[in-house]
Amino acid sequence: MQITYRPYQLQLKHPFTISGFSRTATPILLLEIKYQNYTGYGEASMVPYLGESIETATQFLNKIDLSSFSFPFKMDEIIAYLDNISLGLPAIKAAIDIALHDITGKISQQPCYKIYGANPASMPLTSYTLGMDEPEVMLQKANDAIALGFKILKIKLGSANDKLLINTVRSVTNLPLYVDANQGWQTKTEGLAMVNWLAGQGVVLVEQPMLKTNTEGNKYITQHSPIPIIADEAVQRLPDVAKAAGNYHGINIKLMKSAGMYEAHLMLLKARELGLKVMIGCMSETSIATLAAATLAPLCDFVDLDGPFLTTNNPYQTPKFENGKYVLSDDVGLGTLKVL
Ligand code: MG
Repeated sequence: MQITYRPYQLQLKHPFTISGFSRTATPILLLEIKYQNYTGYGEASMVPYLGESIETATQFLNKIDLSSFSFPFKMDEIIAYLDNISLGLPAIKAAIDIALHDITGKISQQPCYKIYGANPASMPLTSYTLGMDEPEVMLQKANDAIALGFKILKIKLGSANDKLLINTVRSVTNLPLYVDANQGWQTKTEGLAMVNWLAGQGVVLVEQPMLKTNTEGNKYITQHSPIPIIADEAVQRLPDVAKAAGNYHGINIKLMKSAGMYEAHLMLLKARELGLKVMIGCMSETSIATLAAATLAPLCDFVDLDGPFLTTNNPYQTPKFENGKYVLSDDVGLGTLKVL
């Protein structure tokens, strides 16, 4: 098994601002694994505030040796091996996991969505995220999303301008809204008051109202909220799912947090067992990680996979998208990655 990779700067359409952070590009590592005559494609998206970088990813890849693993890949053993080499670093682990799933699909002559039994006909609508911005830019972004055919918009809140931003978006559209507070609300009473107000504005769910460490505050909002409250920052990998039960209505799974598709699927199963709703989300990603997450999306309640639509230099063709949903391809593996 031979791994090659190259760093890539994925440029964002607009500077992306969430509660407490802003950036214009995301460092990506594009990875290929060659196994026999097959090539699998993977990707690590390393948003700076999560602590991974091209350097940490490269150092990690220099430490690993996958030559003892062969098809059919035992993903539980491979993930355990990677975790044993180094704790953390879920994005570069995800790149490896995604490439191995791509190879698995190609060798077994099936699309990746069949590996976990997803039914393409059950694909939910995907939301399109509007980062925090000045009202006139928010309007432009909302109109862009509508023109692209999105049927749900996601708004980043968690500042003093929350109501203004919602009112601005509401001035141009009645589409259902998701809200992501990104831990930005300071007190549970203010947070709950905002959630109640948002529910009256056609907001259908709220992500991570308060600091991930403020379990009591998030739980209070969850218990009193008329709409689902979804944990994002509070849930990274499998052991975090059980901790979310009782404190949130659901969890947001992202491949770059979960170390890839294998563990994302385990998290999904665990969430269902615990009665939690499941959202699948993304970081700034190219079509590779988006296609990987889209193969699990039909098993989820909410889908937030807008990466390819928020970037300007995705090196691959945008995945097929119709009427606000991804259309899964029947090509083997992750599907055709047409290089632009
Ligand atoms: Mg979020």
